Amino acid sequence: MIELKSADEIAKMAVTGQFVGELLAELGRLAAVGVNLMDIEHQARHRITERGAKSCYWDYAPSFGRGPFRNVLCLSVNDAVLHGLPHDYVLRDGDLLSIDMAVEIDGWAADSALSVIVGTPDPADRKLIEATEVALEAGIAAAQPGGRLGDISAAIGEVAHSYGYRVNGDFGGHGIGRTMHESPHVANDGRAGRGMRLQPGLTIAIEPWFCRTTAKIRYDKDGWTIRSADGSRTAHSEHTVAVTAGGPQVLTRRPAPSAPPAEPASDRTSASH
Ligand code: MG
Ligand code: MG
Repeated sequence: MIELKSADEIAKMAVTGQFVGELLAELGRLAAVGVNLMDIEHQARHRITERGAKSCYWDYAPSFGRGPFRNVLCLSVNDAVLHGLPHDYVLRDGDLLSIDMAVEIDGWAADSALSVIVGTPDPADRKLIEATEVALEAGIAAAQPGGRLGDISAAIGEVAHSYGYRVNGDFGGHGIGRTMHESPHVANDGRAGRGMRLQPGLTIAIEPWFCRTTAKIRYDKDGWTIRSADGSRTAHSEHTVAVTAGGPQVLTRRPAPSAPPAEPASDRTSASH
């Protein structure tokens, strides 16, 4: 069952989406050589609590995970691509970090992810991240009222193939609204003109993720983290999007990179000045 949202409900989701976008941008700027993944996780916990938001990840216990999840972020490094379990790891020069986050505010969820390079970029990693970002924008552009769900999948898949990447069909985007994961499944490859009709009020998370040299995945011993099967690097980009009569509306758009750095959490600053 797919619940179409009213303009009022989409406006509420946009409030959550704005917070998610701002916090993800802030967390992306935190990712630097020498920073521990748990520092990023703790900063996110602090900001979510401070905002009165609720993490959709905390206590999440899906069939595939070794639940319940007790973190507010998925932090996936290098060959890890989805559901990366935050842990004691200090970021190194050249690491590729994907940050994924979903929260609720006033009962409405938003979900978004980005990939960043820590320190010195490998051009091949840059290209991989770019492909997920271009695919995400192509998927968003295809989320037009009157179109079909397959238009979004086809648009994403076409970008992946044009960059020379294969697409995994096990995980993709999803409906979102009162909860993080709702129908329909939004595959990252497919055929245009197929699938359900896209109607105003449909709210979905579109989330292309690719591995450099494989479409296969493996599960880490930690029971959560999903990695590329061949150890190649991976990237992931995601936005929460509403289909409206006027076209797609991105609810988790991030502020421009020129935004000033966020102040550190008060519990991590010293009193000296
Ligand atoms: Mg997500
Ligand atoms: Mg998602």
